[in-house]
Amino acid sequence: MNVDDDPRFGRFGLRTDCPRCGAHLPVNGPAPTVDCADCGHTVGVPAPMIADLFRDFEKEWPDSQGSGTIVRGDITWRWTAAPVEAPACPSCGEALPDAPEAGEVACGACQTAVPVFQVPRDCRAGVKTAALVIGGSDDLSRPAEPPKPVVLQCPQCGAGLSIGHERSRITPCEYCNSQVHLPDAVWRALHPPREVREWFVRFDGEGPAAAKARSLRDKEEKRRQAAENKQKKQAKKQAIQAEHRKKLDAERHEREETAARQKRFRNLTGLVGVLFAAVLALAACAVMGASIVAYGAPWMFEAAGIGHALLLTQSLIVAGVVSALVAWFVGVVAAAWRGNVPLLGSLGMGSFHLLASVAPFVGVVFALVFAFGYTRGRFPAPPGPKWQAHRNPLGSGWPVALLLPVTSVFCTVALAMTLDLTLWELFVQMGED
Ligand SMILES: [Zn+2]
Ligand SMILES: [Zn+2]
Ligand SMILES: [Zn+2]
Repeated sequence: MNVDDDPRFGRFGLRTDCPRCGAHLPVNGPAPTVDCADCGHTVGVPAPMIADLFRDFEKEWPDSQGSGTIVRGDITWRWTAAPVEAPACPSCGEALPDAPEAGEVACGACQTAVPVFQVPRDCRAGVKTAALVIGGSDDLSRPAEPPKPVVLQCPQCGAGLSIGHERSRITPCEYCNSQVHLPDAVWRALHPPREVREWFVRFDGEGPAAAKARSLRDKEEKRRQAAENKQKKQAKKQAIQAEHRKKLDAERHEREETAARQKRFRNLTGLVGVLFAAVLALAACAVMGASIVAYGAPWMFEAAGIGHALLLTQSLIVAGVVSALVAWFVGVVAAAWRGNVPLLGSLGMGSFHLLASVAPFVGVVFALVFAFGYTRGRFPAPPGPKWQAHRNPLGSGWPVALLLPVTSVFCTVALAMTLDLTLWELFVQMGED
């Protein structure tokens, strides 16, 4: 028998004792009352008690086998219940064919007609699945038709006595007035005891046990579904994330590749630029140095015909150097005081930056002066016949002059490229230094 069987059958037994005479009182079905076969006393059978039996039976299905006692008022009821595959014939015990309707069902083996009737409404309270009673009775009153009187001889006077069922067990002889004790056989014939008969109940539809099981199954299924969905969603999310990560990785890798390529290119061009600038600077310095050594700086300006500019140029150079020195000093002190930098370290760093920033400035000024002189064909030479023979001894005319201003600018650009800065950033940094 399974939890979701439909229909389900139960075999029930119910009995008590007559509260008046103590006689055994079988209750062969969900009847409202039962009459004592011995004394005729009517005992009410509480319908809620039977409904409770049915409800417990359904709740426990298919493990509803059980027995017990119920006390209601001063009456004790003994009950039994057992789940069965099919109701059994009360005569021969064979399984009865299914009877879905009220009426009668004939036993296939002994042809006994077994009554089938609907479970009384009162006994279905709270247990709507209780449908039919098979083999039981809903009328357990004493038969209206009393058994025929029994005739027996008075053991005292030998007179024939006709004893009806209304007589008590010890009854007077109406002839000799002696008290006659009725023998068991006579008493039983007058008061036939009610046989104990099993009765069955058919339960239709989904029982509470099946409903509970189904609800549990549904819940489990829902839980499983939810878990599956969650897992699917998570897998999808992870796949998307992995895809995204892959894409990001690829992008980053490409970016890094590009950056590395650009850096290699910049380094190379920077290196080439620096080398080229160094060569140019060396050449320019050689030309400039040789001219200065040979003729002396003031002569150079005079010879170029811009002697009057000498004072201005010198003033500019001096002012530039002084301001650079002041800036250097202020920078060193500020760095040491506010920047929490060791004085010796900032001193060294400041000196290096001073030289680095002053050099192009000085270079540009000198280069411009030289270039101007050369392009005008007036080469630096001291006055006096001794030196006239040595006019333009080192430079070779204005093309060389072009080299000079370009050199300093080129040096600055190359330095910016090597430091990976724009020109503007370089100037800003020099200004800050
Ligand atoms: Zn009784
Ligand atoms: Zn039978
Ligand atoms: Zn008698």
